[in-house]
Amino acid sequence: MTSVDIIVPCYNEEEGLALFYQETQKILDGMTGYAFTYILVDDGSSDKTLTVMKQLAAADSHVKYLSFSRNFGKEAAMYAGLSASRSDLVIIMDADLQHPPAMIPEMMKGIEEGYDCCAASRSSRKGEAPIRSFFSRMFYHLSNRMTNVKMAYGAVDFRIMTRQMVDAILKLSEVERFSKGIFAWVGFKTKWYPYENVERTVGTSKWSFWGLFRYALDGITSFSIVPLRLVSLMGVVISLGAFIYILITLTQTLLFGIDVPGYVTTLCAVLFLGGIIELSLGIVGEYIAHMYMEAKNRPIYILKQSNLNDN
Ligand code: UDP
Ligand code: MG
Repeated sequence: MTSVDIIVPCYNEEEGLALFYQETQKILDGMTGYAFTYILVDDGSSDKTLTVMKQLAAADSHVKYLSFSRNFGKEAAMYAGLSASRSDLVIIMDADLQHPPAMIPEMMKGIEEGYDCCAASRSSRKGEAPIRSFFSRMFYHLSNRMTNVKMAYGAVDFRIMTRQMVDAILKLSEVERFSKGIFAWVGFKTKWYPYENVERTVGTSKWSFWGLFRYALDGITSFSIVPLRLVSLMGVVISLGAFIYILITLTQTLLFGIDVPGYVTTLCAVLFLGGIIELSLGIVGEYIAHMYMEAKNRPIYILKQSNLNDN
């Protein structure tokens, strides 16, 4: 028997969690040779998610739950699940049935074939605002150009991983986690499974546009120092331009005397440089902020209760 833990981050999923369990269970019941355990992670939900988890756990001893002291975010919830897991294989999936459980048997075949990781990727973004898809595409384009880790466009956090890969992921214990990057960074052989985007039937998405924007920015700055290099490059180019301009102005002044005072030129140069300096400070600041958060070395999540050690 291969043991498999299914890690499900849940934040205010009281409406859909029981349905998720039922639907997933239907699929798992048809699979032989695997011993499944659910690790449901309650990410500080303010609704009755934890109560639903307890009900599921009371009815099925293969349901384990962890509950945070507050909302720490999906990244923290996934990390908590991965840390708690001891199984041979690990599945990560969302609680809202946007990750079709019906794909599990097929993805499991990939692992049997010898892949370290089988991951789902959305082949369409049906039902998503076009502006969101546009920024998403921009993000993948930018970050793949700036980093050595190549993130697959459309990749979602629905995947099966081997113990070896999970252990590697747990070694990356940074506080500000960006899983899409981390999964790619640790390497290992991944097989992709495209699927049609499924719209949420119950509950609402927890992501705001700005939330995603910040997440994308953090994603780039936690895996790449290219923005810092760009700042240096900008400095070099501007200094060079300034130097040439000084030479020209100096020669002109020496040869032809002082011309009309360059009011416009001065103003443009001051504003332009001001903008560049602000931008550079901002970029440097992003990295300092990351260092600050990591240096504090706070725990990634705080556990309030769980039934992991109960029998
Ligand atoms: N989630 C979480 N903590 C959060 C936000 C979301 O654990 O702070 C969970 C949520 O319950 C769901 C998954 O992460 O199981 C994906 O969230 P959501 O459906 O809101 O994101 P989307 O599908 O829109 O990317
Ligand atoms: Mg969702």
